[in-house]
Order: sequence, then structure tokens, then C-alpha cells
Amino acid sequence: MLKAENIKKSFGANEVLKGIDLSVEKGETVAVIGPSGSGKSTFLRCLNKLETIDGGSIEFDGEIIAENGKYKKDKELRPIISKMGMVFQQFNLFPHKSVIENITEAPVIVNKIAQKDAEAEAERLLADVGLSEKINEYPCNLSGGQQQRVAIARALAMNPKLMLFDEPTSALDPELTGEVLNVMKKLADKKMTMLVVTHEIAFAKEVASHVIFMDGGYIIEQGSPNDVLENPKNERTVKFLERVL
Ligand code: ATP
Ligand code: MG
Repeated sequence: MLKAENIKKSFGANEVLKGIDLSVEKGETVAVIGPSGSGKSTFLRCLNKLETIDGGSIEFDGEIIAENGKYKKDKELRPIISKMGMVFQQFNLFPHKSVIENITEAPVIVNKIAQKDAEAEAERLLADVGLSEKINEYPCNLSGGQQQRVAIARALAMNPKLMLFDEPTSALDPELTGEVLNVMKKLADKKMTMLVVTHEIAFAKEVASHVIFMDGGYIIEQGSPNDVLENPKNERTVKFLERVL
């Protein structure tokens, strides 16, 4: 489904990604963990060209996104990347649009779905994330957890083949984290393909099919949750887990 090879990225003299190889198979939930500044967000953002890579190749859903550090032309890239949904740490909803408008905008404008069909789909997605009663609310009247669930519904409305999550719960109060993680767990159970940057080690243990530990711009260790989280082999993984658990 997704294959990134030898991804390199620097910001000026700061080499943030030093050759990342990572694959996600269809239906898998891959969790990416690692210390602050290790390049997790940068890596995710390079996949959908929110940042650009300096080297390496990215293949997604049978299409080449970038080869030898060069992305496809934007015009060809747009329909491919529109099949990647992304959920950010900050919920990034449109503040002046209601919940349903937030969800239907991109399907109607980008995917040319009929308004009525987009609304029916939005209602279904809102029911899935447990927010049917908030359909006409504005983001400022929702809790952080509710806003993040709307953000997930909005990403799903584009009918993505892959969902990228960048620490979706780290801006939330602890009591609101569970409702967002539950929605993500339901998605994983339905075999949505997901790449999740997270500090929630318990979630990674329970939900991930594969765990990747990044540090200093490299993947230091990867494997099953049991391998990486319960029986880490690398000293840096051990130290990191001691700090976060
Ligand atoms: P965290 O767990 O804190 O979110 P992270 O693993 O997501 O950390 P990144 O945000 O990818 O780390 O940052 C990796 C490095 O790249 C950091 O040194 C950061 O300062 C730098 N960096 C990220 N974005 C930019 C940018 N737009 N311009 C310059 N430097 C950047
Ligand atoms: Mg980050």
C-alpha cells in the first residue's frame, strides 16, 4: 500500500531524516514512536508533500509519488495524495464552518460528490464517531476530543486508502484521549490502513500490527508490538520506553 525507501530530508544543516525505509501493507496499523525531534512528523509530512524530500522514493497505492528525491508534478500528484487522509495534533477544523460543512466541503469541491450524497455520508460518519447530535455545531462549541473526532470524520469523508495520524491525542486532556483512541481502534478493527505517530504506548501495544522506533533520523528498531515494546533489543529503544512508560 505504502512504500518509502531511503527517505532523506534536511532543514538547512539539520539532517532530520537520514534514510528511512518504511512499508505499510493494506489493512495494517503501523505505530511510529520516538523522542521529540526525531523526525516523526517530518516523515509523515513528506509522504503527502506537506514537506519535500531531498532523496529517496515513495510509492503509494501502486503509484509513484516521488522517485530519487523528485516528486511527480502537482497535477498528477493531487488525485493520488487525496487518497491519504491526515489528522493532526491540532485539530485544524475550519472555525467558521459547522461540523457538517467541515466534513462535506472537500468531497463536494475536490471529489465532485453531489451535496446531498456528501451530507448523507457525513451523517453516517458522524454517527460512527458518536457525534450525530453535533452536526450543526461550530468547532468552538466542541471539546477537543469532539473536534478531533470531527477531524477524523472529515478525513474519512474523502474515502482514503491510508490514514496518517500525527499525535492525534497529545493536545487533549487525558480524559478526552480515550474517545479519540476508541474511534481509531474501531478503524483499525475495520482494517483501515493506518500510519500513526503516537506517544500512547498502550494504544500501540493493543492496536498496532507493527511498531517502528525512530531516533536521530533513523529507524532504530521495528517489529511486532511484542518485540519492540515488550522485548526491545536496542539500548536506545530500552531507554526511550523507560522514560515514557
Ligand atoms: P515531536 O515528538 O516533538 O513532535 P518529531 O519527531 O515529530 O518531534 P519533527 O517535528 O519531525 O520531530 O522535527 C524534527 C527536526 O526537524 C527538529 O529538529 C525540528 O526542529 C526540525 N524541523 C521540523 N520542521 C521544520 C521546519 N519547517 N523548518 C526547520 N526545521 C524544522
Ligand atoms: Mg511531531
